Amino acid sequence: MKIGGVGEVMKVGDLVKVKDCEHLYDVSHPFYEACECFFCSGNSNRIGVILGPAPRNSWAVMFDCGEWRLDEFDHARGDVEVISESR
Ligand SMILES: [Zn+2]
Repeated sequence: MKIGGVGEVMKVGDLVKVKDCEHLYDVSHPFYEACECFFCSGNSNRIGVILGPAPRNSWAVMFDCGEWRLDEFDHARGDVEVISESR
């Protein structure tokens, strides 16, 4: 199955960016809840380098706050964007 267009394939060495979490930034909002995901709690810039393949169609990715796994589904959903391809 082919998903997306040009530069839409993740590979080792690529720089990827994880989309910002959809949460409320206004602390005074009644529904405000601080996001506690890996990236928010690690105060990450959300940019990582793909280290190599990981089990179940995923990739091991090194971020400034540590290693995380992303899969092709995250990518297909648009939650992960390839910002710089290795050549
Ligand atoms: Zn988050």
